[in-house]
Amino acid sequence: MNRCTKCGRLFIFEGEEQKHTCPPRWEVWESTGERASSATRVFAADAEMAAEKWAEIQDDAGDYDIVSGRLSPVVCVSQEGSEEITRFRIEGESVPQYHAREI
Ligand SMILES: [Zn+2]
Repeated sequence: MNRCTKCGRLFIFEGEEQKHTCPPRWEVWESTGERASSATRVFAADAEMAAEKWAEIQDDAGDYDIVSGRLSPVVCVSQEGSEEITRFRIEGESVPQYHAREI
């Protein structure tokens, strides 16, 4: 399987690579920080998905404070090169999952 070298999208089906166009790039940063120094750049179809991707990256790099409900940060999202900013409150949840395996 191949990935897009620019946005990282995984190609599963044959020919998908030729039809692919990378989604727009967004800058996401915590509302308490500065865009210039703390923005994370992500590819996403829209601002909301960009905020969710940011949360996934942040939580994975930290102590899963968002998914555990300990933190619900406010983030600013702006398309790269744009001055328009949309704010989102990030919330997460972990869903219990059980598996039964015959032994
Ligand atoms: Zn791409």
